[in-house]
Amino acid sequence: EVSVPESHPRYESLLTRHRIEAGVERGITSKQGLIAEGRGEAFDYLLGEETTDSADRAARAAAAYLLSAEHAVVSVNGNAAALVPEELVELADVTGAELEVNLFNRTRERIEAIADYLREHGAEGVKGLDADARIPGLDHERAKVDSDGIYDADVVLVPLEDGDRAEALGEMGKTELVVDLNPLSRSPQVATVPIVDNIIRAIPTITEHARELAGDPAAQQAAIETFDADAALADAKRRIREVEA
Ligand code: ATP
Ligand code: MG
Repeated sequence: EVSVPESHPRYESLLTRHRIEAGVERGITSKQGLIAEGRGEAFDYLLGEETTDSADRAARAAAAYLLSAEHAVVSVNGNAAALVPEELVELADVTGAELEVNLFNRTRERIEAIADYLREHGAEGVKGLDADARIPGLDHERAKVDSDGIYDADVVLVPLEDGDRAEALGEMGKTELVVDLNPLSRSPQVATVPIVDNIIRAIPTITEHARELAGDPAAQQAAIETFDADAALADAKRRIREVEA
């Protein structure tokens, strides 16, 4: 990894770029992923590059949903894998969720490269390689999932998901937890829990809440019941409107 001095005012942003670049070089991240990263960064800038109180509450609700699920699956794409491989493995460990590689621009090589990369970071039983089930309502390649993974899950965490697929997963009756920096994007709008935050901060934040909520079903229930998705999106939009230099 390229060294960026931690004192640099844009440390996190530079680190993120280097990771995405390295992801493309390793065959983990697609070229489209570079564009998605740029788009995300613009929103992060407007949101103050920090986890807002509202995003923190969303992360807490997401943790509660993951812990109380019958079968929780965390969907991993090329950007998520490049940015937070270790953090995703840790989240899966703490919540009992499974990891499934799920790509918009799917190639066998990239699926395998991502699964390998997650295993290098301690993941076991990575899903997404069978692709023996289909999400209804999507064209063939975009619909592929594992029958004993996302297809079967009652709760799915989808960071940086495409709007069509987020919608189709919602129509399958799944509880959808979406990490996306753009509150105007369709994915957070159709989510049960939109977490408007950088995935770099959001995943560790969800894990932290999960540690605290583990073994406490009453606290999990309370976090779920008090969460308001519309308010979370409205908060993010207000924050962007009211940004000051
Ligand atoms: P739309 O939702 O507007 O129809 P899209 O979903 O097809 O478009 P993309 O650019 O492919 O657009 O989606 C990438 C999404 O991921 C963007 O909404 C962007 O804000 C978000 N994103 C990118 N990087 C990050 C990140 N590090 N953390 C969180 N969200 C991110
Ligand atoms: Mg989107």
